[in-house]
Amino acid sequence: MENPIKNSLGNLRNGYDYDIQCWVREGLVLPCGHRLSMDCRCAGRKYAGRTIAYARKKESEKIIEGG
Ligand SMILES: [Zn+2]
Repeated sequence: MENPIKNSLGNLRNGYDYDIQCWVREGLVLPCGHRLSMDCRCAGRKYAGRTIAYARKKESEKIIEGG
């Protein structure tokens, strides 16, 4: 039976992902809500509408590459 909070891959489905710091709904990254004029570069800005699995993968690649 599927965990209601996390899917089988361990990715968050609904709530706040503390690792990459963005809100997640039904497995999709929600827009951060910062002002557009603010160059926030947060996960919610970069990955809005993407799957959390995609966002986490990209962020982990970035960490491995060292920035
Ligand atoms: Zn933001």
